[in-house]
Amino acid sequence: MNPTTTSPRAVVFDLGMVLIHVAYSRSARNLAPFCKVDAAAVQRALDQSPLLHAFESGDISFTTFVESFRSTTGYSGDDTVFRQFFADIFDPLPEMIDFLGQLDAEGIPTFLLSNTNEIAAEHVRRSYPFYRLFDAHVLSHEVGCMKPKPAIYEAVERVSGLQGPALFFIDDRPENIDAALARGWHGIIHRSPSDTIAACRRWLSQPS
Ligand SMILES: [Mg+2]
Repeated sequence: MNPTTTSPRAVVFDLGMVLIHVAYSRSARNLAPFCKVDAAAVQRALDQSPLLHAFESGDISFTTFVESFRSTTGYSGDDTVFRQFFADIFDPLPEMIDFLGQLDAEGIPTFLLSNTNEIAAEHVRRSYPFYRLFDAHVLSHEVGCMKPKPAIYEAVERVSGLQGPALFFIDDRPENIDAALARGWHGIIHRSPSDTIAACRRWLSQPS
């Protein structure tokens, strides 16, 4: 008997603040010259706002999203300019991207679980080759609900064919990890690449 034989398992990654840094302040700075309010107010209209949540939950279309943004901020630019600056919020985080690449090279399945929207997802897909390493992408605007709601975790279980202790989740938001642990998944609140990678490696080295 091979003592290293283990059951299938997979690592699930959040996107924002785990694999890429997200800075809506940059969007706000770039969009403010087209608005009647200052950059701080533009940022409040976008970053973690009810409007963004509606968009990322798949409740409203891009057109409705931009129209609401126009009425909140007085934005007078066209939709293409908005799309470009709204998407330009990301900087890659190389250590975690490298770790994802290592897992892929070792044949360990990986999944993306992200609260996001069609514009950000398309921008990341086009800009970052690491996006294609995932076995599947579970995206809030496609599933129709956001972390930490159970339905989006169920979507990962469905697409991976794995459950509970066979899944390890990496996310920077405590409430998202709490929801995963409540389902019996393993996971870590991401604070530093070294801590996260060590915890995930420990989990992978345990017989299942
Ligand atoms: Mg995040």
